[in-house]
Amino acid sequence: MPTDTPTLVLIGHGMVGQRFLQALAERGLTATHRVVVLCEEPRPAYDRVQLTSYFSGRTPEDLSLTDAAFIETHGIELRVGDPAVSVDRAARTVTARSGLVVGYDVLVLATGSYPFVPPVPNKDAGGCFVYRTIEDLLAIEEYARTATTGAVVGGGLLGLEAAGALKGLGLTTHIVEFAPRLMPVQVDEGGGAALLRTVEEMGLAVHTGVGTQEIVVGADGAVTGMKLSDGSELATDLVVFSAGVRPRDRLARDCGLDVGERGGIAVDEQCRTVTDPHVFAIGECALAADGRVYGLVAPGYEQAETAAAAIADAEASFTGADLSTKLKLLGVDVASFGDAHGTGGDCLDVVYSDSRAGLYKKLVIGRDGTLLGGILVGDAEAYGTLRAFTGSVPPVAPEALVLPAGAGAPARLGPSALPDDAVVCSCHNVTKGTVRGAVTEHRCTTVPEVKKCTKAGTGCGSCVKVLGQLVDAELEANGVEVDKGLCGCFGHTREELYEIVLALRLTSYRELLDRYGREKARGGDGCEVCKPAVGSIIASLAPAIGASTYVLDGEQAALQDTNDHFLANLQRNGSYSVVPRIPGGEIAPEKLIVIGEIARDFGLYTKITGGQRIDMFGARVEQLPLIWARLVDAGFESGHAYGKSLRTVKSCVGQTWCRYGVQDSVRIAIDLELRYRGLRSPHKLKSAVSGCQRECAEAQSKDFGVIATANGWNLYVGGNGGATPRHADLLAQDLSDAELVRLIDRFLMFYIRTADRLERTSVWLERIPGGLDHVRDVVVHDSLGICDELEALMAAHVAHYRDEWAETIGDPERLARFVSFVNAPDAPDPVVAFVPERDQIKPDLPLLSIGRRPADDLLEGSATR
Ligand SMILES: Cc1cc2nc3c(=O)[nH]c(=O)nc-3n(C[C@H](O)[C@H](O)[C@H](O)COP(=O)(O)OP(=O)(O)OC[C@H]3O[C@@H](n4cnc5c(N)ncnc54)[C@H](O)[C@@H]3O)c2cc1C
Ligand code: SF4
Repeated sequence: MPTDTPTLVLIGHGMVGQRFLQALAERGLTATHRVVVLCEEPRPAYDRVQLTSYFSGRTPEDLSLTDAAFIETHGIELRVGDPAVSVDRAARTVTARSGLVVGYDVLVLATGSYPFVPPVPNKDAGGCFVYRTIEDLLAIEEYARTATTGAVVGGGLLGLEAAGALKGLGLTTHIVEFAPRLMPVQVDEGGGAALLRTVEEMGLAVHTGVGTQEIVVGADGAVTGMKLSDGSELATDLVVFSAGVRPRDRLARDCGLDVGERGGIAVDEQCRTVTDPHVFAIGECALAADGRVYGLVAPGYEQAETAAAAIADAEASFTGADLSTKLKLLGVDVASFGDAHGTGGDCLDVVYSDSRAGLYKKLVIGRDGTLLGGILVGDAEAYGTLRAFTGSVPPVAPEALVLPAGAGAPARLGPSALPDDAVVCSCHNVTKGTVRGAVTEHRCTTVPEVKKCTKAGTGCGSCVKVLGQLVDAELEANGVEVDKGLCGCFGHTREELYEIVLALRLTSYRELLDRYGREKARGGDGCEVCKPAVGSIIASLAPAIGASTYVLDGEQAALQDTNDHFLANLQRNGSYSVVPRIPGGEIAPEKLIVIGEIARDFGLYTKITGGQRIDMFGARVEQLPLIWARLVDAGFESGHAYGKSLRTVKSCVGQTWCRYGVQDSVRIAIDLELRYRGLRSPHKLKSAVSGCQRECAEAQSKDFGVIATANGWNLYVGGNGGATPRHADLLAQDLSDAELVRLIDRFLMFYIRTADRLERTSVWLERIPGGLDHVRDVVVHDSLGICDELEALMAAHVAHYRDEWAETIGDPERLARFVSFVNAPDAPDPVVAFVPERDQIKPDLPLLSIGRRPADDLLEGSATR
């Protein structure tokens, strides 16, 4: 870069700092400026909003908001772990802790906030923490290993997050809040009461209306308790201060920039400091032109865009921001929007409250019917629509907006009733009109396309459900018929076909095709898409609809994939592999010996799989019944390595053997594997159980994963390893055995009901409108009233399960299909040949180049068994 290139120095690489860099890059300013970033933390920007998800298994890398490619491509000089220590505005230089002095033409301060710690005695004792950075969490995690009780000072948004984290670490957890209710800023008295009830039901002890007077320490100087303002003392080993944040404006003060009375670097509407035109301030360290310091990320992002625009001499201003928030705290929906406390005066409240169910909804309505704001606790489903209506008169009566469905409420208000200028995504300030434009002008037909086109839904994600409804409504209004049919034979989706099969108890593919297929497909043979899909639906529902539970009976046989035809996995040289079930990966020596003997006698190659079982390769079709006869005799059954069904439930050794274990992970893994074995589903299902948070069984990379806590089990869903890894999401915490099984029953049956063909749970969770929140509402809160049905379907599956291989070898008719050549049943296939390698066999074939292998085979690799 030439020496006359202007230099832009950014101090602080947090969430807003990173967004500012992206805005610079989008405006081409990284090409015209030398950009130097001084970053205090030991890592580049990460998602602080999602900080707590570290405790549910997301790594610091998962949370990262940037990557080396972005930094490199834009020539950004990022100095990690090298904070700015002073600014000389006269010389226009910044000095870093390393001693580096860098001159600037433009300086941007994005130094964020620091956690406020009340000045109580012993506040810095061993065992006292704050909750702001990944390093804070690492320190809390380490200290909690030897602690049993923890207390959080502050019952606000972050305090509740911190309390949830302590509870997840197995500590008896207290929350001490000075105000008379939890989350005093966001919710009012009624909302606080609903929240309190739910939080207490989760086993957290809440102390409101009391302050912390002193931290009590033991002889070693470490925390042993807290003295509270009501004279009581609380015994605790660990304290997390979460009593609010303050803008980090020390650097600015020291170099003579104006700061507000209560802190914050004073800026104008372009985010330029009021003192110095060469210096900008954005994010939580800035005191905006409207006199507010914003503690949420969305306003910070808007300030980042504004500052970048101002530097590029473009028009933009930050005049204030919506403080609406929707959060999931300790699993409870809490949302507030607009003037939630009715501070403007002359307004009326419409309140729906059901403290038994932990529900509280309040709308603040102006005299003329304008929706001014509101609070939702326990059910924030309507948040997206309500927020967008704020400031206007909604076209239906206010009670219709808060009463639950079925409680006498008039028809609900959909987002199609919103005006075009209503903001549907406040993170990126995207209006309904822009979303409609994405559909009509840019031809987007799906939510992912609209997200890409408008950025809507890519921030906190709370508007994605509304986006889906808007896209559908817009397509419909434009007469665009989106063919959602399963294939050329059926105009119905897989989900619709599932409902038809279940409702009409249809057990025949042919009947389904002839009655519900597309006109041209009726009377035909179907295709390779719908045959296995319908075969899978019928198999999933077999006991409930009265179909045979044996997948190779009658017409069912013709519907199955190649692997299911022979109840074994076809290998590249035409031989098959055999995988007996080893529930939870636990196997007695006698059974191990049987596997060894069978492999030796039939000359099979053996390999231990990633799913904790033993795979025997190289069996010829005609050998399969002989091998299975011996396996069944020894007490083995099919491991379904071939089916779109449950594969394995892995486990670590858990509490029985491991000194860290807090529950018996092996027992629960075996129970789960035996419960769900043979369950046919849209795609394969994998699971794992870990005996503690150390997660040795990698449960969070599974379709449903279970991790032990001191109080029970945490259930994670939608994880995936393989080609498209995805960390599972936490569905529910601290479940008893019975609660765990009930939730998994519901989750699996809801997935089987609504997923598309060949859609793994990870993809389904991302696609289904409302995502994880919706799935949680359905399977945890029974929002659709279908949980009894889901449980009954699973109970029918469990009651009717039969081992496919035991059924096969006991029936000569079923055995007849296991021949290489139907017209020469005694002839082995001559193509299946082997050569020795490392004391075992291998196929006598040259290695195929990867490019020749079908994509499906790559995704179904052997290691996934
Ligand atoms: C646990 C938690 C949960 C949250 N949840 C939500 C939520 O649900 N919704 C929401 O809107 N907001 C939430 N927030 C707030 C949100 O994270 C902040 O609004 C956002 O991070 C502000 O971004 P920022 O860049 O201004 O500050 P930060 O992200 O704090 O970044 C500032 C950076 O500047 C660095 N820095 C400071 N001084 C210097 C220096 N002298 N030299 C170099 N670097 C320096 C700091 O180390 C830090 O890395 C949450 C915050 C926390 C902690
Ligand atoms: S997950 Fe925990 S209990 Fe299981 S093996 Fe690892 S450390 Fe032990």
